[in-house]
Amino acid sequence: MRSDTGQVFKLEDYRPCDYLIPETDLTFRLDPDRTIVVAQLSIERRDGARAAKTPLVLDGDGLELVSLEIDGAPVSGDDYTVSPDRLSLHAPPAARSFTLTVTTRLAPAGNEALMGLYRSNGVYCTQCEAEGFRRITYFLDRPDILSVYTVRIEADRGSAPLLLSNGNPGETGPLPDGRHFAVWHDPFPKPSYLFALVAGDLAVVKDRFVTRSGRPVELGIYVEHGKQGRTAYAMDALKRSMIWDETVFGREYDLDVFNIVAVSDFNMGAMENKGLNIFNDKYVLADEDTATDADFANIEAIIAHEYFHNWTGNRITCRDWFQLCLKEGLTVYRDHEFSADQRSRAVKRIAEVRLLKGHQFPEDQGPLAHPVRPRRYREINNFYTATVYEKGSEVVRMIRTVVGAETFRQGMDLYFERHDGEAATVEDFVRAFEDVSGQDLSQFFLWYQQAGTPNVTAKASYSAADKELVLEIEQSVPPTPGESRKRLMHIPLAFGLVGPDGADMGWDHVEGATVKDGVIHLRKRKHRLRFGGIAKRPRLSLNRGFSAPVTLSVEEKRADRLFLARHDGDLYGRWQALNTLLVDTLIRSARHIRGGRDAVLPEDLVALCGDIAADDALEPAYRALALTLPSEADIAREMGSNIDPDAILAARTLLVQAIAHAHGADFEALHAEMSQAGPFSPDAESAGRRALKNVLLDYLAARGADAAPAAQHYAGATNMTDRAAALAVLVNRHAGSAETMQALADFERSYRDDPLVLDKWFQIQAAAPGPETLEAVRALAAHPAFSVANPNRLRALVGTFSSANQTGFHRADGEGYRFFGDIILAVDRKNPQVAARLATALRSWRSLEPERKAVAREALLRLASADGLSVDLRDIVERTLA
Ligand SMILES: [Zn+2]
Repeated sequence: MRSDTGQVFKLEDYRPCDYLIPETDLTFRLDPDRTIVVAQLSIERRDGARAAKTPLVLDGDGLELVSLEIDGAPVSGDDYTVSPDRLSLHAPPAARSFTLTVTTRLAPAGNEALMGLYRSNGVYCTQCEAEGFRRITYFLDRPDILSVYTVRIEADRGSAPLLLSNGNPGETGPLPDGRHFAVWHDPFPKPSYLFALVAGDLAVVKDRFVTRSGRPVELGIYVEHGKQGRTAYAMDALKRSMIWDETVFGREYDLDVFNIVAVSDFNMGAMENKGLNIFNDKYVLADEDTATDADFANIEAIIAHEYFHNWTGNRITCRDWFQLCLKEGLTVYRDHEFSADQRSRAVKRIAEVRLLKGHQFPEDQGPLAHPVRPRRYREINNFYTATVYEKGSEVVRMIRTVVGAETFRQGMDLYFERHDGEAATVEDFVRAFEDVSGQDLSQFFLWYQQAGTPNVTAKASYSAADKELVLEIEQSVPPTPGESRKRLMHIPLAFGLVGPDGADMGWDHVEGATVKDGVIHLRKRKHRLRFGGIAKRPRLSLNRGFSAPVTLSVEEKRADRLFLARHDGDLYGRWQALNTLLVDTLIRSARHIRGGRDAVLPEDLVALCGDIAADDALEPAYRALALTLPSEADIAREMGSNIDPDAILAARTLLVQAIAHAHGADFEALHAEMSQAGPFSPDAESAGRRALKNVLLDYLAARGADAAPAAQHYAGATNMTDRAAALAVLVNRHAGSAETMQALADFERSYRDDPLVLDKWFQIQAAAPGPETLEAVRALAAHPAFSVANPNRLRALVGTFSSANQTGFHRADGEGYRFFGDIILAVDRKNPQVAARLATALRSWRSLEPERKAVAREALLRLASADGLSVDLRDIVERTLA
């Protein structure tokens, strides 16, 4: 583990390395406590590099050097210096190229950081992104050093019959003492962060795919023995991803094998190592008895995401870590489009926007704000953020909006053609679209460079006499840490003018801004657009499809918003109008409640919710999303300051109850209708019916104290979606009831040997609103099945409590923070990356009401003053306090 050197890495300091490593031969002699790694590196001095005397400095992280040779001869101790974190050859040979052989010794069994080579349930596996390879051997561990890897793995045949690495399989055979070996060769040069190795005793499910040019590919999914039956959906998703990338982006797979390995201890979701994706098993294993519909959708998206990286990330990688969004934002965009094509596009888009607003907006509006392409970092692990991933994806989506769909595809083709086999930059990417479109995207490029969510305000006025609509739009970008002055952005706003019949209206002419294909292009601070030839006053449907990730406020009549929520022909626009109405109401209501007044429960809004539920023309998944009121965190974010989570919870609960009481009978009938189902299928339409059914169950349960209906729903559930939903309703609406206690005990008994399902049990209890949940969470942290060493379990309990339980975590007495701080410090000693990630739950502390703000600050100061903080955690805590 590295100590904090305080070093800050800056984008402007980038320069190419003086040395290259065109070939890397690795031999692993695996042993849990004493693994030997022999790295034979062909080293070349780069053309144009400085004088021959330039030292060669290799990165390490906690390494133990066993021996060092150049061209087969030992290197004299005077010619190098070595520490766990660095190996410097003072004067490398004068020859243009030479072979350096580095032998290191590792203890994978003791590696609790889950970076580098470690053991998960007896299986050796690796995680090298971002800087884990330097925990395996001394290397130029940076993404612009591309090397062709040959890997020989030696291990005990009994405990590790399976030996996998990147690329294509080569020679295998026996060794003395019950050991054996396998050789893998990856012909595609790759950066060290894409290196992977897996060795252990796993079961495999195989399949085959033939690419459109006729290349047969052997597909393998490796899981723990006995879990083979839960891989069918992942395999199907993989094959659908492969076809989709050929069809939509023209990209074909390039190796003879594609392997996926599921492991139970993993810091992230999954990793796109070339030809050998390693997955958190949560994103591979699914069947109807153990996975919810959300799990199925996540598996589909993440399998696709990692597969798509083969072209966006692997074949074309990042020049340096500042360019992380080049692979992540682009690949998220690709997996979003894939899911939209596989499911309902409108529903998918609404879910994406909810996620973006829930995770990225608070980041952009708080102390951890950074541009999609950061300019500096102290710990790169802390930049695997919603901004890089989700906002990065939105920026790519906007490029498509700006240049048009066809030109976008041409730009992607040009990007692949130009940079295949290279380590590229965001500039390279955007240039491809400039070149195919002939457009100057320099103002657009600010989306990569400026942090903060732009604010857009709009106001429309209509003159019947002139048949003219005047639309005034203004943009501003708020200051963010380190960036007080902002430049004006190019904001593409998709829109529609909605006529009295709900259909979009046309216009004769427009002036004041570029308007093309239903998109207004804002480039100045203020635009005054005049639309002529408009016969009747239209309603304004602005930022359709969330074409730009901005905070939009439109000055408009409540009646217009209600109209759009019912009639906007664009389903996204319809949802957005409803959501704005709900958020505004809930904010007002929460303020009333905090001030000792009555809640706000508008009858027209309550009626609207009933009408949406009953509207058969809308697909069930859409109705389920519309009826899911903004979360407490959503309301808090939109309030922005002086946040009292208890008042927000009360406002939300009272509105749920008002809707439930007004439409109880109709909801019961609809619930019964949605409950009629044939055999289970994970497809989007069936999942949508289950989603609507379970949202309705929550409303019905909110009407009173009778826990029996939810308990019956729990007992009668025939799949995990329904079972988990019923348990959540019991826990949230009927806390402490006999039925709830019984269901919790039943769930635990049924799934105690199934970690992924038991995670749900922890998660549901951690999310139960109310200050008293902390005591339950404390008790769960002492449960024998809880361990801070397993990231999934930790996220299920502590991650859920801190990020999805506003009233429990932000308890006014600060006890929630105290519990959280103790856990974070314990985790940090083992796994800094995960500790730092969890700690971001405190990022919005400044927007709390004064009493809570004070205790949150105390909690952060306590973390900051703790001894021996990792560089990861210190970075987050100090930026959060700054
Ligand atoms: Zn990714």
